[in-house]
Amino acid sequence: MPKDTVFAAELPWPAYQARVEGGDVPILIPLGSMEQHGHHMPMHVDVLLPTEFARRAAAEAGGLVAPPFTYGYKSHQKSGGGNFFPGTTSLDGATLVNALKDVVKEFVRHGTRKLCIVNGHFENSWFITEAIDLALRELRWDGITDVKVMVLSYWDFVDKASIKRLYPDGFLGWDIEHGGVLETSLMLRLHPDLVSLQDAVDHPPATFPPYDVYPARPEWTPASGTLSSAKDATPEKGDILLDVCTRGIVAALRTEFELPT
Ligand code: ZN
Ligand code: MN
Repeated sequence: MPKDTVFAAELPWPAYQARVEGGDVPILIPLGSMEQHGHHMPMHVDVLLPTEFARRAAAEAGGLVAPPFTYGYKSHQKSGGGNFFPGTTSLDGATLVNALKDVVKEFVRHGTRKLCIVNGHFENSWFITEAIDLALRELRWDGITDVKVMVLSYWDFVDKASIKRLYPDGFLGWDIEHGGVLETSLMLRLHPDLVSLQDAVDHPPATFPPYDVYPARPEWTPASGTLSSAKDATPEKGDILLDVCTRGIVAALRTEFELPT
């Protein structure tokens, strides 16, 4: 039995209870999606990456990692290629909101008072906000007012200096990074067995008009499903990302949750 695991679900319940009662130990909830990531990567990239950042941050800051959400909100054309690709398997917004709200309230019932949502799929963002708003409101109705929830997306911790090292030829924004240098570099470092870089389709960055149409126009998305090329991805860039994002997340957890250093 892995006694020092940071994964909450790997613990027997009494060991789990001993960690969470009192409310000082933060619980990190990774949130992902099942979404195509081009020809060179598997469809659970958005689950694997936030789970690993949560694992590293929890190990360093003294937290527990909840089982990740493996489905997320629908892929949007301008940030995930679109929800029309085979394999991409998404929840309606209300389903995600309700599921996350339920899980947050359950951890609070166990005694947890510090929660951190570690997002790995951009499209989840506003549904996370809504889930937490509803959870905190319902908890208030039960007289519970001492819960604090942090929400973060790991890529937001990449600073300007790191962006220069990762994108020496210029950075085009996180929205078209889908399946590009960021995610592919992290996967090359963490799960090289799941990446076949030789199958990545090299194409110019996706461009979109300044509006959306529904139903989405599949021809607006590069046929590969990625929104920028992964050809400049390297495991060394994965190390840069792992380092800067983990350090940032740990510092944020310590600040917001007043954790010992
Ligand atoms: Zn992704
Ligand atoms: Mn995604």
